[in-house]
Amino acid sequence: MRFYVYIESVMIHFHIITIFPEMFDSYFKESIIGRAIKSSVISVHFYNPRDYTKDKHKNVDNKAYGGGPGMVMIAKPIIQAVLKAKGKKKKVKIIILSPAGKKFTNTHGRNIIKKYTDIILIAGRYEGIDARVKKILKAEEVSIGDFILTGGELPSMVIVDAIARQVKGVLGKKESIEED
Ligand code: SAM
Repeated sequence: MRFYVYIESVMIHFHIITIFPEMFDSYFKESIIGRAIKSSVISVHFYNPRDYTKDKHKNVDNKAYGGGPGMVMIAKPIIQAVLKAKGKKKKVKIIILSPAGKKFTNTHGRNIIKKYTDIILIAGRYEGIDARVKKILKAEEVSIGDFILTGGELPSMVIVDAIARQVKGVLGKKESIEED
């Protein structure tokens, strides 16, 4: 078993782009993560791409640009939501949750909080996200494992949890930061 010391004492801000922000309510209210948010050690913010659509039905899906089966999430509302989250912040990491992405590890999480103060997580739905989003935002695709979930909300919660527990002040005296 290897033990790690906390590496960051700065506040880490998570920004989640999702069409289902309510899904996060109960998990982020409880236990260690709930306590960390309450005591402002981390913060979590939500941006719904539907709020950045122009049509009256607030559609966020369409046929894939360049073909392919099923529907994907339209680029523009996601990009606008990300720009809103980004604002004028400088140390921002943009992640697209995708089963085809780089496999997330504790080391990956630790490296992110060494460099960035703000982490934007884009949760996909349908058959994923318009491929242009990754290119335009210079985002990294990240997977939480070799299985397909129905959306990026659970993977976002997993990543917030795994990263947050490495932030100084998130774990209490009774909990220890460790890794098998
Ligand atoms: N064929 C699609 C693909 O390969 O992206 C599957 C899309 S999946 C039904 C819908 C969304 O769930 C994805 O856009 C992604 O955000 C999320 N997702 C599903 N499984 C995931 C995983 N293992 N890791 C990270 N995100 C995942």
